[in-house]
Amino acid sequence: MDKKFDIIIIGGGPSGLYFAWKMAEKGFSILVVEKRDKIWHYIDSFHFDSEKFAEFDIPEPEKNSEEFVTIKELSINLSPFGNYPKYIIYPFHVLRLPYYLQRIAEYGKKAGVQFQFNTTYVGPKLKKGKLIGIYAETTEGKQLELFGKLIVDATGITASVRTSLPDYYGVETFVVRPDELFYVLLKYIKWAGEESIADQGWTFYKTWIAPSPEGDAILGIGQPLNYDNCDQVLKKFFEHITIPEYTVIKEERGRTPYRRPPFSLVADNFLCLGDAACLTKPFSGEGITSGYTVAKLAIDVVEKALKIDDLSTSALWNINTSYFRNQGAKFAGMLAQIPVAANTSMKEMEYLFKKDVIFSAEDFTSMNREYEIKLPIGKILQIAFILFWGVLSGKYSMHGLQSLLSSMKISGTIRKHYEDYPDSPDRFPQWKKQASTYWDLVPKMQLSEI
Ligand SMILES: Cc1cc2nc3c(=O)[nH]c(=O)nc-3n(C[C@H](O)[C@H](O)[C@H](O)COP(=O)(O)OP(=O)(O)OC[C@H]3O[C@@H](n4cnc5c(N)ncnc54)[C@H](O)[C@@H]3O)c2cc1C
Repeated sequence: MDKKFDIIIIGGGPSGLYFAWKMAEKGFSILVVEKRDKIWHYIDSFHFDSEKFAEFDIPEPEKNSEEFVTIKELSINLSPFGNYPKYIIYPFHVLRLPYYLQRIAEYGKKAGVQFQFNTTYVGPKLKKGKLIGIYAETTEGKQLELFGKLIVDATGITASVRTSLPDYYGVETFVVRPDELFYVLLKYIKWAGEESIADQGWTFYKTWIAPSPEGDAILGIGQPLNYDNCDQVLKKFFEHITIPEYTVIKEERGRTPYRRPPFSLVADNFLCLGDAACLTKPFSGEGITSGYTVAKLAIDVVEKALKIDDLSTSALWNINTSYFRNQGAKFAGMLAQIPVAANTSMKEMEYLFKKDVIFSAEDFTSMNREYEIKLPIGKILQIAFILFWGVLSGKYSMHGLQSLLSSMKISGTIRKHYEDYPDSPDRFPQWKKQASTYWDLVPKMQLSEI
């Protein structure tokens, strides 16, 4: 086996495989180090926004393949009491993740990607303080020393490489804490009788019913802080919402990161991608296409850097600038607002659904497509009027309104700060210090008061 590569990617999940394929197509030598014995994933079914195939230059799956489940053109979102349906026209594919990954890995293999399975990353190999490779260990206990010009951390939430780098290295080495995760519970269900529901969501409970590759549907719930919270909220859900009777045929659980990404995604000879860099969408916890955004930006930057044989922080910096000034700024602003938004009371959310503001079908669509809710001045005034009227008529609490306004303020400040991300590492320490001060003002996520 070769020991020297242009790029070593640790982690053969969605992020690592996509980047490996795209960089191999550029003609570089790529090694993917994966601890599993083959390409696989513990999550079975997942959603992929249909329009993102073109954006990320990925062929759509064949409809008769093992990977394909269905395409949903329309989803429905309902208020806490199951009223005021919002019809969201934003098609997404429902696919099976292990088979999707095998297809991406196959594209990679054809382009020349090499795979080292049954092998776990152990630690960084440094020379004169710079990352030049990795130490890894096979399941048979064989120690490996592998060299790469660029080392990519695509190991998911554990961020095995990023968290193992020395403190001086230039990327934050934080480990994602349990209270910085979003806990997702998926029940694969079979309807007991004739009645069924195809696809619906209830934002207030972060609960949804979606198409499934097994059984009739998936009943999903995502909650912050712990899995117990999922069970508690699901109980409350059933107190207010009636769905047809069902039996559960299997359950899946998993967690997604729910915290800000490291302030820099790059350091000398290093890049982090996907969940290892906490790139999940703050409003849904989905992370595959949002993670691809950084991977796609990195393709051109890394190609140029490899051609001049300079993978220093400065040479890779454009990945940071392009990401954090755009999607990163939107996500940061949203993440700062979510602890308050998640604590909107049942009565308040019912009111917002009724008045068709913040939770309108148009808002849901633009949140998915552009990662922001477009608020022209007329709409801001309309929302302000509806909220003030809500307070006067007792439908919206004064406390709720004050919290919303203060969270909008800090969210706007954070987003603006990210839009002004420094264009070189020189101004970074100052920018980072100010960013930390802003994040300290964001309230912590709490259990929803249902
Ligand atoms: C229940 C659930 C449902 C979800 N549904 C969706 C969805 O519908 N749509 C969506 O976009 N996102 C969804 N997500 C989020 C999505 O799964 C993640 O954002 C995505 O998997 C992140 O990809 P990744 O490649 O960064 O990390 P991972 O998927 O975690 O892959 C990491 C890979 O690295 C390997 N690895 C880890 N450590 C090491 C090591 N030390 N050495 C070698 N290899 C290592 C692992 O074996 C794995 O193959 C869901 C998450 C959950 C929990």
